[in-house]
Amino acid sequence: GTTSAHRPPATRTTCGYCGVGCTLDVVTAGGEVTAVLPARDGPVNQGHACVKGRFTHGFLTSPERLTRPLLRRGGRLEPVGWEEALGHVARGLRAALADGGPDAVAAISSARATNEENYLVQKFMRTVIGTNNVDNCSRLCHSPSAAGLTASFGLSGGTDGFDDVERSDCLLVVGANPVEAHPVVGARLLRSVLRGAGLVVADPRAVGLAEHADVHLRPRPGTNVALFHGLAHVLLAEGLTDEEFLRERATGLDRLTELLADYPPDRVADITGVPAADLVTAARLYGEAECPAIVYGLGVTEHLHGTDGVRSLANLAILRGAVGTGRGYGVNPLRGQNNVQGASDMGALPDLLPGYGRVVDPTARARAEAVWGVPVPGRPGLRIPEMFAAARTGELRALWVIGEDVCATDPDANEVAAALDACPLVVCSELFLSETARRADVVLPVASWLEKDGTFVNFDRRFQRVRPAVPPPGEARSDFDVVHAVASAMGAGLGCPTPAAALAECGRLAPAFAGVSHDRLDREGAVPWPCRDPGRPGETKLYRDRFATADGRAHLSAAPYLPPGEHPDDDYPLILVTGRRWAHYNSGSMTRRGANIVLDPVDLLDLHPDDAHRYAVRDGEPVTLESRHGRARLVARIGEQTASGQVFCSFHFPASGVNRLTSGHADTVTSCPEYKVTAVRVIAS
Ligand code: SF4
Repeated sequence: GTTSAHRPPATRTTCGYCGVGCTLDVVTAGGEVTAVLPARDGPVNQGHACVKGRFTHGFLTSPERLTRPLLRRGGRLEPVGWEEALGHVARGLRAALADGGPDAVAAISSARATNEENYLVQKFMRTVIGTNNVDNCSRLCHSPSAAGLTASFGLSGGTDGFDDVERSDCLLVVGANPVEAHPVVGARLLRSVLRGAGLVVADPRAVGLAEHADVHLRPRPGTNVALFHGLAHVLLAEGLTDEEFLRERATGLDRLTELLADYPPDRVADITGVPAADLVTAARLYGEAECPAIVYGLGVTEHLHGTDGVRSLANLAILRGAVGTGRGYGVNPLRGQNNVQGASDMGALPDLLPGYGRVVDPTARARAEAVWGVPVPGRPGLRIPEMFAAARTGELRALWVIGEDVCATDPDANEVAAALDACPLVVCSELFLSETARRADVVLPVASWLEKDGTFVNFDRRFQRVRPAVPPPGEARSDFDVVHAVASAMGAGLGCPTPAAALAECGRLAPAFAGVSHDRLDREGAVPWPCRDPGRPGETKLYRDRFATADGRAHLSAAPYLPPGEHPDDDYPLILVTGRRWAHYNSGSMTRRGANIVLDPVDLLDLHPDDAHRYAVRDGEPVTLESRHGRARLVARIGEQTASGQVFCSFHFPASGVNRLTSGHADTVTSCPEYKVTAVRVIAS
């Protein structure tokens, strides 16, 4: 740990909540965390931190923390020793292998776990089990970013560093509410605007940044692709494109131009509800800026056509020549979870190896095989929704869920629960007895982000160190140690005995990470990837002279707008959008057990005064929300932040049943759920 002259001794680490990656100094006394302070020299946070990072460490000492392994006996989970739990896991895995072969086993790795843990999980699945059935929860949030950005530019990552984005003279913020979900980034974006940058906000809700925007576009949920095509239409029609860039460095302009003829502002206004004049104003702001930048969130990805949304948003940067040049700061997803970028970077994906080599590519497999010394399966594995489907049909016979409460956070929660019940072996690594853990056969108690060693990669691709401030409680162990222990119980070894060794090994098969090491991060604080050489700084800009596509060009997409999967009707007249709030994080398992519960104690349903009047709902009173898939109970909050005809709630309180409302629709390319569009009715109760 590091110390500062005017502060108490502290352990320096990286926040384990959102993907901003704030550097925090964790003060302890008597083996307990007493304060969490934002580091003044933190490369991303620059002395700031939000209410999540600062005040939600109370969960560490919650009496509900799991401190011993649990094993299901006679229908009940009972505490047992590690040896017995691991023996049961190993026997169950061997039985699944004997019954169904390697592809009868799957693991859901964790975007909350460290890079080194994710690296080890996918290595275990690929080399010990012999399957590519490993995925992580980016499937549920930013898998369309991975697919879309890779198709448009060649790599799965934001195109520019946030320090550059902050220098932009025009920010286009789409489908994101950084003031609440990524508060430190929200503050930095606001700082840019107060210094004079233009701001276009595109979001159905009046999110925090909207009041500072030059123009706020409020598309109907599910109409993003039409909106982006409308903006692109204006860029083309008004000559606001970079012709030299399009000629020299892009491809697909003819097809896109043909498509965009069908998206004049008037027609786009009909589809999206955004006035044509606002669309033109927004396109001019973006098109006439010197260095525009796009920042976006889950409002772009969590749709039936989320990958098309990412690609048609990327079209704007390509048309404008504002990516991979000095004339703009590209296209940048705001990652939700602390290490959602890193979990994917490390290859915890069914089709991609560490560093994004494709499992179907013999050259990429050979590189991994040279390091691992065993053959790597060449058939892509199951994605998370496919794992549940395979469990229901009996094809999947063992599932290891690491740090994800899939019963609470995945769509169509009833179906997920049925899948777990049908699977002969469910192993769950968890901090608490979550809904998923309650259905598991074996529950393994693990360390949290404040109790372990490793690295995270934040939303703008910076590797940063994670260090233990306190030991894990009772017999809980880090996921890193647990994966090693399960491998040992199977009679196998995984090498790389320490997190530092695991990252070093990953760098040997993924050249983009070869220059990063724990030692270097301890000296320098943060290193962005790509970083191929320990002696050189990493690249904050992902592309300069070439894109990483096969032809080196940026690829324009010409996908037409297609409607969302869910539609309101007389029975379900409102559209529900789910998202994040300021004080809580994801399923809330950590933040609801800390001080933040007093800030945001109940799950609120935001609805417009007109709708409240229409459905006789009163502010502060309980309401029932029903969809075609399920029902939830919340407390009404009436206000104009949410447009009439729409309602909004968070996913931080799974007990209210919100994820029982959402449909089974998912992005046609990546299976990312359509969380942002669900038809519902509200009943005062
Ligand atoms: Fe920073 Fe995000 Fe943590 Fe808040 S939750 S302190 S913005 S990393």
